[in-house]
Amino acid sequence: MDLTDTDEVLAFAEEVRSFLAAEWSPDRSGDSQAERRFRAAAIARGYLYRHVPARYGGAEHPRDGRREQVIIDLFTEACAPRAVPGVGSALLVPTLLEHGTDWQKARFIPPILTGEELWAQGYSEPEAGSDLASLTTRAVRSGDGWIIDGAKIWSSNAHRARFMFALVRTEASPRHAGLSYLLIDLHQTGVTVRPIRQMTGADGFCEVRFERAVTPADWIVGAPGEGWKVSHSTLKHERDFVGSAAESRAQFDDLIRLARSRMTVEAGTGLADPVIRQRLAALEGRVEAHFCMGQHQATLAEEGRDAGALPMLNKLTGTLLMQEVWAIAADLLEEDAGVTPARERPGPRDTAQWAELGMRSLSRAIAGGTSNIQRDILSIRGLGLPKA
Ligand SMILES: Cc1cc2nc3c(=O)[nH]c(=O)nc-3n(C[C@H](O)[C@H](O)[C@H](O)COP(=O)(O)OP(=O)(O)OC[C@H]3O[C@@H](n4cnc5c(N)ncnc54)[C@H](O)[C@@H]3O)c2cc1C
Repeated sequence: MDLTDTDEVLAFAEEVRSFLAAEWSPDRSGDSQAERRFRAAAIARGYLYRHVPARYGGAEHPRDGRREQVIIDLFTEACAPRAVPGVGSALLVPTLLEHGTDWQKARFIPPILTGEELWAQGYSEPEAGSDLASLTTRAVRSGDGWIIDGAKIWSSNAHRARFMFALVRTEASPRHAGLSYLLIDLHQTGVTVRPIRQMTGADGFCEVRFERAVTPADWIVGAPGEGWKVSHSTLKHERDFVGSAAESRAQFDDLIRLARSRMTVEAGTGLADPVIRQRLAALEGRVEAHFCMGQHQATLAEEGRDAGALPMLNKLTGTLLMQEVWAIAADLLEEDAGVTPARERPGPRDTAQWAELGMRSLSRAIAGGTSNIQRDILSIRGLGLPKA
């Protein structure tokens, strides 16, 4: 991909800037009606859900990594809403576009894009995390439905979600070969959702129990026994979602703002401190390398080529960079680094949101497959090393 700003790209950026100036102001953040109206206008202009066909509620644009980056940068700068947050738009929509039936796409994608229906992800179980293929939640075909029994754990936001996409065992074949990918309505008597309170006081995760829960026969994505293949499509998107290069850059920019605003005993502002400057300079090189890797991946997508092990490298790199951003931020914040974390919101990051980023930099090394597992897969698939 050519990263120079051609006249066409500059004109496009100007178009996006005028759209944002006319349609959004950051004080509307959190107003769900205003966000919904803004998203509808952004889709109509082709700035949101660019790869989703128009018949499912998207903007239906061909891939164009340079323009996509312009949109991300300018929307972030204006604190404007992008895709509805969560696993529905980030993971299930691309999975359904690759593997779903026409009926499934038409029924499930539009309300995900508008935020009317929220989803949870049901992969992990009490005895199956990294070794996902050992999962035991079972679905048995009965009449025109599936009867589901078992338990999922660490399902993010399941208490707020209406539906779950889940990997379950449907076939007699062992491990990967016996799994299917089911869509399940959580609002039914056979389902119990129990939020798990974390040490920060947040309740982001849930345990979800199924006791003779039912899902219709045609709510299976892919064929019975093909769940592993379908789930890999979701995992690939999850690794991009979790390790976004644009996010690394935004966090680094926030860190520079923090260094400018904090005073150190030795050197005035953090930015004037030679040790902090050295650490920031070293980190900036890695952030830029991650950004270029993201652009390379976008180019491959534009050309319809497989990204291979890049999504894994993306996730691992994004996690390591976030931890390094937090390490420098914590040194700048000194005792303020220990305040109670508060949820992220658009606009400048305050101390409590820095603390939240610190906690998230730890959980990110686990979510979507641990860093150890990413390293294992990268060494085998990416570098061709023998299995341990
Ligand atoms: C913030 C967050 C959100 C999450 N959201 C969801 C969700 O929405 N839905 C969902 O299904 N799950 C979710 N998870 C769960 C997540 O996918 C699992 O926690 C993760 O896959 C690890 O599984 P585990 O916790 O069982 O750890 P284990 O698999 O028991 O691993 C424990 C430790 O052993 C190491 N280890 C295990 N096997 C190997 C190996 N072969 N080689 C080297 N090291 C190994 C791991 O790296 C880890 O350090 C979430 C987790 C987090 C932290």
